[in-house]
Amino acid sequence: MSFVTNSLVGFLPRIRLLLLFFLIFWCLSALLLGLHTLSLKRNIKQQRLHDTVSALNRYLVLNRLPSDLQITPQHTPPDDLDFIRISSGRNQLLISANNTMVFTGLVELSPRVDGTWIDILHPDKPGDWILISKILADGSVVQAGKNDSALGLAIYKKTVTIAYFLFFLAILPSLCLAFILRFIMGRPLQILSTDLRYALKHKQGILRKHTLQSQDLTAVHQLLEQTFSQNKQLIFEMQSSLDNVAHDLRTPMTRLRAVAEYALQSNKDDPELYRSALSDCLEESERVLSMLKTMMSVAEAEAGTMRLFPEKIDLVETVKDVMGLYQYVAEEEQITVSCAFEQSPLFILADNTRISQVLANLLDNAIKYGHESGYVKINTEIKGTEATIIFFDDGIGISQSEISRIWDRLYRGDRSRSRQGLGLGLNYVKAVVEAHGGHVTVSSKIREGSRFEVRLPLIASGATGKTKIAK
Ligand code: ADP
Repeated sequence: MSFVTNSLVGFLPRIRLLLLFFLIFWCLSALLLGLHTLSLKRNIKQQRLHDTVSALNRYLVLNRLPSDLQITPQHTPPDDLDFIRISSGRNQLLISANNTMVFTGLVELSPRVDGTWIDILHPDKPGDWILISKILADGSVVQAGKNDSALGLAIYKKTVTIAYFLFFLAILPSLCLAFILRFIMGRPLQILSTDLRYALKHKQGILRKHTLQSQDLTAVHQLLEQTFSQNKQLIFEMQSSLDNVAHDLRTPMTRLRAVAEYALQSNKDDPELYRSALSDCLEESERVLSMLKTMMSVAEAEAGTMRLFPEKIDLVETVKDVMGLYQYVAEEEQITVSCAFEQSPLFILADNTRISQVLANLLDNAIKYGHESGYVKINTEIKGTEATIIFFDDGIGISQSEISRIWDRLYRGDRSRSRQGLGLGLNYVKAVVEAHGGHVTVSSKIREGSRFEVRLPLIASGATGKTKIAK
């Protein structure tokens, strides 16, 4: 019993919507049918009335009834009228009709009744009658009528009754059809939700394959699987980046702590020792801070809230400054850094700090992923309305399977993990360059080297440097 109740409780909400739709549809159909029926009935009645009036007029004109009219009951009415009588005047003469019932039925009617439909109950001639009255010049009233049992209104009434009967009879099959359709249409979604529940429960991120799956659902399956695997990859990258962050932060923090501890345990009267310890601590904390800043900048760039302070800058000078910063790092790695400027100066409208960071990131990568005794070349040139800076290196290169992903946040190449890094550099480069209205591209061959090209819009002649960069 409780099983039945439970199933009903679970079943009801599911069919509620279906029933609601069905009822709305059904009521609307009934309303439309009703309206249509009414207008049809009105039209038929008007048509019949018009026909009867014309028939009576025609009869009166043709017969030109004389004032001393003596019409016998044998006189037959024309084909398109069922009876004719003179109901007042001329001694209440009744005239021709096909059926005596007509006289008995109509004798009580007021002679002034005109253009009315009346119901005359008769076992053999049921149906509607139309009655027309006409007052003649001598004051007598002529009445004519027509039975509608074989025509218009009666047939219409019969048809409407049958239609309504069938309409109500259709409730059951259409409800069944609605249930079947709902079942057929809901089945694939049910399978999908079961699969999703299963995948979520087992944390597998894989959906089971069903042979009887519709094509639409196969596409949804594939999309969901892609989403699952993307999420998996993202979580993996976030985890490894968290490891990297922890690792990269641990080193300067441990060093900072060691320096402070050493200074505290040493000769308390040696101010020089304290000074040197404090300066080391400052250096390490700067390093930690700059790492955190990079992460925040990337987050800002991704959210589209990065603030730029554009000014007119000479790109050649900026490149030279960045090269100067990396001179010692390159020497340490025994990498030769050279440059060639097609034109100098090369003015662009840009945020100098951000563009310096972009160039520094690219140079840093070229050295970091380069070979001992290798080279890095930096060229600047003009292409159309853009200034171009190209970084060539003969380093480890990037495989074709990885090349499209290097711009992703937190992505690190497989062979790069031995080098320090957070996987944020290129993501930041792309965000900054695009915020300046430029673009950055890469081409690379594994074990041969890479080529990164940055394009930035040249300053328009006459610009002062106060113009805003379109974001
Ligand atoms: P990180 O250098 O911290 O790993 P980046 O975002 O700067 O992060 O670079 C993403 C990945 O792109 C690197 O892990 C590396 O695999 C690849 N990459 C970038 N620049 C170079 C380059 N010049 N040569 C080879 N690989 C590169």
